[in-house]
Amino acid sequence: MNPPAIAIDGPAASGKSTVAKLIAKELGYTFINTGAMYRAVTWYTLQQGVNPTDANAVKALLPNIPLSFGKEGAMSTVLCEGRVLGEELTAPETNEYVSTIAAIPEVRALLVAKQREYNNAEPVVMEGRDIGTVVFPNTPFKYFVTASEEVRAARRAAQGLTDSIAERDRKDSARACAPLTQAADATLVDTSDLSIDQVVAKVVADIRAKLEANA
Ligand code: C5P
Repeated sequence: MNPPAIAIDGPAASGKSTVAKLIAKELGYTFINTGAMYRAVTWYTLQQGVNPTDANAVKALLPNIPLSFGKEGAMSTVLCEGRVLGEELTAPETNEYVSTIAAIPEVRALLVAKQREYNNAEPVVMEGRDIGTVVFPNTPFKYFVTASEEVRAARRAAQGLTDSIAERDRKDSARACAPLTQAADATLVDTSDLSIDQVVAKVVADIRAKLEANA
């Protein structure tokens, strides 16, 4: 049996990254940002001059894609030819096309396999859109983190980001393969009126209770 996998899913700017990182810290688990993995494939596609809306052309890139997925301390990293990627992952063009790239089933299959590998040897807190529904459908630790659209737009603006989160969420929810949706057995966590500390405390208490119950 694999070590525990904590699945944190939700729409863009719901606060799930911040919360997932703090939960990982509190539990001493590794934090895995799966959005960065989809962003890296998007950045690489654009860098190669490949049209991201041409799924066949994107698929043709995959067998030799020079990306690797590592860890620095207790955080996942994405590397291209050995170099850790950073700012390019949140560049405006990457933001614009990431949902298009993430809708390609072959891209998802490649990245889901890598995501599962992270949990072979150690417990993880993994943040994304399909972690509870597809990546770890059998984990008992599933949380769907959300907030009202106004609160999410304000949080994005406060980070200095102006991409259309509503459009990205629409695409992510509407795609045929692994759409953004709450798993039937996930706990809904609405962060609109809660502080980050309150959200973290609530989720960690739930995880600890389940870990004890399963011990
Ligand atoms: O989490 P983040 O906002 O960085 O994710 C960027 C995009 O990557 C999402 O809008 C979605 O299109 C895609 N994504 C996904 N599945 C995941 C994580 C991210 O489709 N597990």
